[in-house]
Amino acid sequence: MLLAHKVELRPTAAQAGYLARACGSRRHCYNQLLDHFQRPGVKWSKAAGYQHFIAVVRPAFPWYNEVSSRVTRNAIDDLDNAFKHFWLRVKANKPANPKAKTFRERFGFPTFKKKGKGESFALRESTKFDVDGRALRLERLPGRVDMRQPLRFTGKTRQVTISQQAGKFYASVLVETDDYNPHAPAGEAVGVDFGVKSLAVLSDGRVFPANQKLKANLKRLKRRQRRLSRKRKGSNRSAKARRSLAKLHRRIADQRRAVLHEVSDHLTRHYRVVCIEDLNVKGMAKNHRLARAVNDAGFGTLRQFIEYKAELRGGTVVVIDRFAPSSKMCCRCGQIHDMPLSARTMACDCGNAMDRDHNAAVNILNFGLDTLTPDLKRAQESGKTTVRRGADVDGAKMPALPDSHRSARLA
Ligand SMILES: [Zn+2]
Repeated sequence: MLLAHKVELRPTAAQAGYLARACGSRRHCYNQLLDHFQRPGVKWSKAAGYQHFIAVVRPAFPWYNEVSSRVTRNAIDDLDNAFKHFWLRVKANKPANPKAKTFRERFGFPTFKKKGKGESFALRESTKFDVDGRALRLERLPGRVDMRQPLRFTGKTRQVTISQQAGKFYASVLVETDDYNPHAPAGEAVGVDFGVKSLAVLSDGRVFPANQKLKANLKRLKRRQRRLSRKRKGSNRSAKARRSLAKLHRRIADQRRAVLHEVSDHLTRHYRVVCIEDLNVKGMAKNHRLARAVNDAGFGTLRQFIEYKAELRGGTVVVIDRFAPSSKMCCRCGQIHDMPLSARTMACDCGNAMDRDHNAAVNILNFGLDTLTPDLKRAQESGKTTVRRGADVDGAKMPALPDSHRSARLA
């Protein structure tokens, strides 16, 4: 299975120079080829592109040799792809921009790459690069580039794409991996409450706190946005503020993503059945107090991460109806309580006193197992213990549910 992991790079000044030059060479070469092949009567094919590259383009620009030879050569593949997609759209009569005036614009004819806009280059030959822990080697690059994290997957690296965004460099590494052993998660079932105060609380009591650095950065973002709005448009100061804002946006996106990966990794690695609530993000965002927390945590993305990782690892995700009273019901006796957001503890007549989110997580687990039970029964009758997506939940413990719990749910 091929999986990509995108990691921020921490190049030295000299290394950053190389990466920027490589991006520039690739863009330049792509544009040189396009300039030739966009002329009327000149027909693109990969072979013709290669010919032109060897005979005309490469000899004319000896500075291409300052970086790996593959950087510019792979621009041929990129342009080939762009042409292929253009012709596919033409054949299917599916214009990319139906309102554009010219035929080429309508069907998205390849366009020149602009400096500073989505700059990247790729090395697709495994001899031209390799990853060792947190060090990335690229052909002709002095030393090894420091990566912010090691790769999430083990296996053979197939391709690396270096991109430059808001002044930072990223490496997206494609790995052929067999990490995802279908029966890897050893634990049983878990319920997860995506909290307002914490990012997530598990039914076994584990808490993923809200990321404080992320919080601080969000505050900083607000401040900087205000500052930018006070600056005169088009001024040097406003341009500077805009750049720093873009950087901060990028940083926040990275932090958020890292947190979501951490939570989804933990859940799918350790539990066979993950029960989560169907958070209708739009519906929740209407509630002002919840809105910030929802947007900050990126629940939609988190759910996507959990679902695809569970599928890869052979786990099962059970999504609970969002109207189930997970935070209002006592998880021990099933009694329903009025629980405003300010009430942090579920204190019930039955003697149960629990953190609000932890109580909700236990309920979510119980609801989830309830949903799974019919499937399990059927599977057991036919002598198998497989449910949905072929996941093996043989080891999943089914806690005995009090009767009142069921009736409370129906009520
Ligand atoms: Zn109770």
